[in-house]
Amino acid sequence: MQLPAFDPTDSEAGWRILEDTTSIACHMQEQVLEEVLTKNADTEYLKGFIDGQPDKELFKKKVPLVDYEDIKPFIERIGNGEPSELISVEPITELIRSSGTSGGEQKMIPTTGEKSNRNAFFYNIAFAVLNKYIQGLKKGKRMYFLFMGPSNYTSGELVVRNAITSDFNDKKLRNLSFNWLDVLTSHDEVILCQDAQKSMYSQLLCGLVQRHEVVRVGTTFASTFLRVIKYLEENWQQLCSDIRTGQISGWITDPNCRLAVSLILNKPMPDLADAIEVVYKGKSWEGTIKKLWPSTKLVEVIVTGSMAQYIPKLEFYCGGIPLVSLPYACSEGLFGINMKPLCNPYDVSYTLLPHMAYYEFLPVDNHQSSNVHLEGGIVDLANVKIGQHYELVVTTFTGLYRYRVGDILMVTDFNHNSPQFKFVQRQQVVLSIDVDKTTEEDLFKAITKAMSIIEPLGFLLTDYTSYAEISSIPSHYVLFWELQMKEGGSIPEPDMVKMEQCCDVVEQSLDVMYRKLRNWRTLSPLEIRVVKPGTFNQLMDFFLSQGTSFSQYKTPKCIKSERAIKILNSSVVGRFSSKVLPKLPS
Ligand code: AMP
Repeated sequence: MQLPAFDPTDSEAGWRILEDTTSIACHMQEQVLEEVLTKNADTEYLKGFIDGQPDKELFKKKVPLVDYEDIKPFIERIGNGEPSELISVEPITELIRSSGTSGGEQKMIPTTGEKSNRNAFFYNIAFAVLNKYIQGLKKGKRMYFLFMGPSNYTSGELVVRNAITSDFNDKKLRNLSFNWLDVLTSHDEVILCQDAQKSMYSQLLCGLVQRHEVVRVGTTFASTFLRVIKYLEENWQQLCSDIRTGQISGWITDPNCRLAVSLILNKPMPDLADAIEVVYKGKSWEGTIKKLWPSTKLVEVIVTGSMAQYIPKLEFYCGGIPLVSLPYACSEGLFGINMKPLCNPYDVSYTLLPHMAYYEFLPVDNHQSSNVHLEGGIVDLANVKIGQHYELVVTTFTGLYRYRVGDILMVTDFNHNSPQFKFVQRQQVVLSIDVDKTTEEDLFKAITKAMSIIEPLGFLLTDYTSYAEISSIPSHYVLFWELQMKEGGSIPEPDMVKMEQCCDVVEQSLDVMYRKLRNWRTLSPLEIRVVKPGTFNQLMDFFLSQGTSFSQYKTPKCIKSERAIKILNSSVVGRFSSKVLPKLPS
């Protein structure tokens, strides 16, 4: 499909295109499907279902809904050197490696050469949305932390890398997309440094030196951003010392990275070092972002879905700078944009751009934790209903047909006939021991309620995860919590009674089936294990060592890996269990 052309420096034009598109989104979706089928009806995959006929109704009747496991054999065959025409007339140029931390295993998603145009269009529209609401962005720099993952090759010589690494290295995309990367505080060589810690240190150094020019800060997901802030807290003295002397530390050994930093840190800057010291020698780290980068107008990080847990901590650091959650994007494609970037971070909804894919929606029961699919079947964009939860299904220009993304979205509103979606959660049930089924969202809501017991005592939840402890019978849910003090400093031992109350509140907030099983003693009391500060960073390091990308990492909300559970268990400093049975409805 011909993407609407506009001058990417003209934000008004970009906004107009977005508005025009949303008013005819349903019509455009029909065109997208027609184009995908006209091109690809003869591929081996589609031929098996629609016999070469580019007929939309036949497609909806005959082509099955699939998940990654179903299409993996086709992708592997292409990876092994068989022709792309198995699934796509456009040659498959790359396989995009997913993070594997939101949905279990790492997937390899095919992509084609035309993704450069499509993704550039998405980034340009996203920037137009920001410009519509926030003045002065074009005048300043963007301290956006990016981390590259490895590039590997399949036996058929196809490159495999994560989405961010792919886009960063895509020259055509970068030429086409105004303001995505050309105003970063760090040069490419700093971002391309393969050692994530060295790259993070160097990106921070560049950002600090240019602190008065920075108007936007951020990274893809909230969790990565907090990791960077934590790193800054732990390493500010060394950064100050480098700034004071004008010399980058010797342990940054990558020569290209050193050279690139030295173009920015090119003389001793004792005044700047003093100013940073003032911030960090203060009693509290509240508002650090505002203090260090005073011209910042927004913090760009995804804070929806499981990332919502980080909002209180981010707000603590931001000092009133708005948190902007702009894209809804996956390795499968860039799909949604938040058209109200300055809305409350808890109320973010995304508009699915009709150019990016053909979308279908599989209704799921809003009231059942297990995401049961409802009778009545799949609908298209034109037929979704406000308040209903759906699993997103996409047909792309890159060889995915009726592919279940695995995300649950809820329709919140319509904007010019175009539905707005709240990201609810990943599709999977995270915890289940018997017939109980607890989802990511159930767990998040229950933990948020429980935290209200210890928040008044100054505690913040740094991160959490869970696992089903089934080695003893009856079995039980275990939650790992890492805590920190709002005001910084060391953490007092959490009060036993209060922590037991937290366990009770979590149980009481879980669904009726869970509470019944507890009352029947099929499940034993839920346990919270408090872990040492820094444990979730170790967990992240473990997943990074398994090939997950730093930029796309999301803490898994239920851990299955024995090695990961071992890491968590080895850092436990307190164990607490619920003491009362949860109440049942009368
Ligand atoms: P990956 O393919 O590894 O980059 O992970 C993509 C997944 O990240 C999506 O399927 C979602 O589950 C999650 N994700 C992406 N964008 C958002 C968002 N705006 N809010 C919440 N989760 C998101």
